[in-house]
Amino acid sequence: MKPKILISACLIGENVKYDGGNNALHVKILEQWKEEGVLVPLCPEVLGGLNVPRSACEVIEGTRTVICKTGEDVTQEFAQGAKESLRLAKEEGVCMAILKARSPSCGKDIIYDGTFTSTRVNDSGITCKLLQESGIPVFSEEELSFAEAFWRQKG
Ligand code: SF4
Repeated sequence: MKPKILISACLIGENVKYDGGNNALHVKILEQWKEEGVLVPLCPEVLGGLNVPRSACEVIEGTRTVICKTGEDVTQEFAQGAKESLRLAKEEGVCMAILKARSPSCGKDIIYDGTFTSTRVNDSGITCKLLQESGIPVFSEEELSFAEAFWRQKG
């Protein structure tokens, strides 16, 4: 059986973004993976109980506290979504994750700083961090060629 891949659901066209849209990537390798049935799509924020649409959220720099633009604290929902994502990743036995860049849940290495001023910081989103801490390799959609090479090694 080919190794499975956890993927941010918005990257394959599911309308789970905070604004009700998606971040669909129309690239050959994703189509191929979809046809092969190896993708495990999920949205940590929806898994954590947040609605679509919802307010934009950011992680406060240097913490795991997450706030909405409206001021609401959604740390618990983000933590729950991360926990549930990890549970599914383990249940499905994924070999890696491909997560949406710069999201407060999914972003890898670079996210926004919690001031809602489009200021970037070197950190990762809540789910990305938990997956990495649990030993699951994460790639962003901007690193698809590396992700593909890694997946082929595992297959
Ligand atoms: Fe996409 Fe992740 Fe944001 Fe959900 S939490 S909309 S999967 S980037």
